[in-house]
Amino acid sequence: DLHNPEKNHFRDMDIEQQLRPLSFLNFKGQPKIVDNLQIFVQAALMREESLDHVLLHGPPGLGKTTLSNIIANELNVGFKLTSGPVLDKPGDLAGILTSLEPNDVLFIDEIHRLSPVVEEYLYSAMEDFRIDIVIDKGPGAKSIQIELNPFTLIGATTRSGLLTSPLRARFGINSHLEYYDTDILGGIVVRSASILKVPIDSLAADEIARRSRGTPRIANALLRRVRDFAMVKGSGSIDLPITQTALKALNIDQYGLDEMDRKILLTLIDKFEGGPVGVSTIATAVGEDSGTIEEVYEPFLIKEGFLKRTPRGRMVTKIAYDHFGRNPGMIQNA
Ligand code: ADP
Repeated sequence: DLHNPEKNHFRDMDIEQQLRPLSFLNFKGQPKIVDNLQIFVQAALMREESLDHVLLHGPPGLGKTTLSNIIANELNVGFKLTSGPVLDKPGDLAGILTSLEPNDVLFIDEIHRLSPVVEEYLYSAMEDFRIDIVIDKGPGAKSIQIELNPFTLIGATTRSGLLTSPLRARFGINSHLEYYDTDILGGIVVRSASILKVPIDSLAADEIARRSRGTPRIANALLRRVRDFAMVKGSGSIDLPITQTALKALNIDQYGLDEMDRKILLTLIDKFEGGPVGVSTIATAVGEDSGTIEEVYEPFLIKEGFLKRTPRGRMVTKIAYDHFGRNPGMIQNA
């Protein structure tokens, strides 16, 4: 139902589930992280113990949830999913923790957004598989100890800088996910297309991969939209011309930059003569949180050579000027 955005949203969520790889074998890219995790998982299985707690950090859509699912599958244990903002009260956390079977995986997304009280409870749960619950208030208050089954906490965050050091210290395994290169993303697109049963040629898969901001979630989303164009305006198969038509209609830029990426670069060019400018100044100018700029947007812009970090602040590069057809010597808005 095209007129019901909510329904479409859910449909896209279902498809996202369907496209999620379920084993290390089908998870492409991030070779260092995957190789290590495979060893840690195997060792935990051999010892018949829970896997050490895992912290996964990196920009959204790079596979943190997917990897966590895979870890639970490969360990042959249950998987429970929650998130920092949802765990409002210690009681919410206690409810989940006491429901875990031995060696289960508990995935907490956006773990940097846990409230300090809940985080406090998590410490003893992670360290000793035990929580202390205070019942009653005032002079009659007493604390009871609840033993938990051993479990693995997997925390995911886009903002590792916001994690408190006591929390960070409790993760034995700490991995940073990187943006994917075009080759690997192209492979992900081809795999997803075959799950969606839509024929795609390699030029088209590469084109989608190149415009996906190094991010599998974006690659899969673009693939679904291009598939729509192929069905309605083309032959049903995805080739390069229909891909280009679709991407143009979707207003996806040649490098896959999104609106905020473009806004950051254009603000630097138009308002600050290309920099150098401090991150907090950029943040104010574009109306985004400076930590998000630093941890979500900037890494991709730096990796692609649009932006560089200097001791005096951020500067745009010639590549950025060229991309927008601007001239570095020219003073804009003079
Ligand atoms: P995150 O939790 O980091 O925001 P997700 O794990 O939800 O990202 O991944 C988003 C989507 O991208 C998933 O639906 C999954 O299908 C796909 N995906 C992510 N990483 C990979 C990968 N390495 N190989 C194949 N598909 C991937």
